[in-house]
Amino acid sequence: MNGNAHPIAPLDASLLKITHVETLKPVPTPGTYGFGDIKTDYMLVMEYTAGSGWSAPEIKPYGPLALDPASNCLQYCTNVFEGMKAFIGPDGKARMFRADQNMTRLVSSAERMGLPTFDPDALLKCITALVSIERRWIPAENGHSLYIRPTMIGTKASIRVGKSDSALLYTLVTPVGPYFPISPAIPHPTLAGVSLLAISEHVRSWPGGTGGYKLGLNYSPGFVPQTLAAQEGYDQVLWCLDVGKKPEEGAVISEAGAMNFFAVLANEGSDGGITIVTPPLDGTILPGITRDSALQLLRAHADSLSTSSTSPFSSPLHSGSGPISVIERPLSLSELAQAAQAGRLLECFGTGTAVLVVAIERIGYYPLSKTTAVPIDSEHTENTPKITDIVMKGGLKGLGQVGKALYEKLGALKDGSEEWNGWNVVCE
Ligand SMILES: *Cc1c(COP(=O)(O)O)cnc(C)c1O
Repeated sequence: MNGNAHPIAPLDASLLKITHVETLKPVPTPGTYGFGDIKTDYMLVMEYTAGSGWSAPEIKPYGPLALDPASNCLQYCTNVFEGMKAFIGPDGKARMFRADQNMTRLVSSAERMGLPTFDPDALLKCITALVSIERRWIPAENGHSLYIRPTMIGTKASIRVGKSDSALLYTLVTPVGPYFPISPAIPHPTLAGVSLLAISEHVRSWPGGTGGYKLGLNYSPGFVPQTLAAQEGYDQVLWCLDVGKKPEEGAVISEAGAMNFFAVLANEGSDGGITIVTPPLDGTILPGITRDSALQLLRAHADSLSTSSTSPFSSPLHSGSGPISVIERPLSLSELAQAAQAGRLLECFGTGTAVLVVAIERIGYYPLSKTTAVPIDSEHTENTPKITDIVMKGGLKGLGQVGKALYEKLGALKDGSEEWNGWNVVCE
């Protein structure tokens, strides 16, 4: 705490202390672990106490937390989090991608939850120090990275319903491979795709709700619908906002699992152009940093077609010579189905830190798949569309031209192979 004028201590990165472990754990071989299970040597922890403010941040041996059973986070889910990654580049340096954006989003989630806030730059400095000390855990293999999970929980020890005036802000890291396991039959992630089941009877978010924030309580209610999708032979739920309608009647597309949703449509008429659509940030959509990065890159490319500016992409994003429009607007399932029927649905993909960009191969409607008896080839479930599925033009081939260009560009920007807008920052 510094001085009498300011009794509430701000989060101060210069106070960071490091407590070393006695024995370092062995780092497992990439390819032998899934997503999010490995525990590393260290974690970063800081505490906010009502009246005195933030404690000195500490990097210390990874281990269990001690919480009062009445803790606000255990009773009323005052849990907010972030998801970001560190990559090893071809130059051997560790980098994080637009991490300042994750810090700002964590502050906004904390504010929405009534949790104490903090200086985002101070937290980023401490996380950078954690990544540096855990550097040997960052896998350099293609498609691998160190996933970083800043977490903030309300620790007020009272079952009284109300906001928490104390909190724990901690960060753990874990080495990860591809989020969706790639089968040996598929040699490259850009060739893999996921299937989605549009479900109308459960919604992830709603107008005036909290879907635009990364709050833990937005995710657990999706676990059962996710099981339903899996039972029907789909990888993820396509969240739709049905506002009193059934999906086949025109519910609006929200998100694909925990990814933002993009569709690429060939324009009607003869201009030979394409339109890239993603739902707008109306409060029901999580403002993904991958989504924002994709929009900025695609808009820079679209501008380069009509002005003399240079495109971030070195090859064209579609085979025609027409214009490219990049639009944030509501997109209904029925519009998507009609476009697919007319052969204008070129591709759909999901974006997010965990996957980067992943192809969506087909979309089923839950009410229809329930009533339509279509035999499923259990050995090749992913590759056998039901007759009621929305399927992309050209069939099931993984990422299309736009998704593939984004996947490659974002990958190159994230590991530092390429630079744009100062988006990646070296951790050392
Ligand atoms: C985290 C998240 C995303 C992706 O956000 P990124 O910043 O791109 O990782 C999309 N949708 C939901 C619901 C999310 O929780």
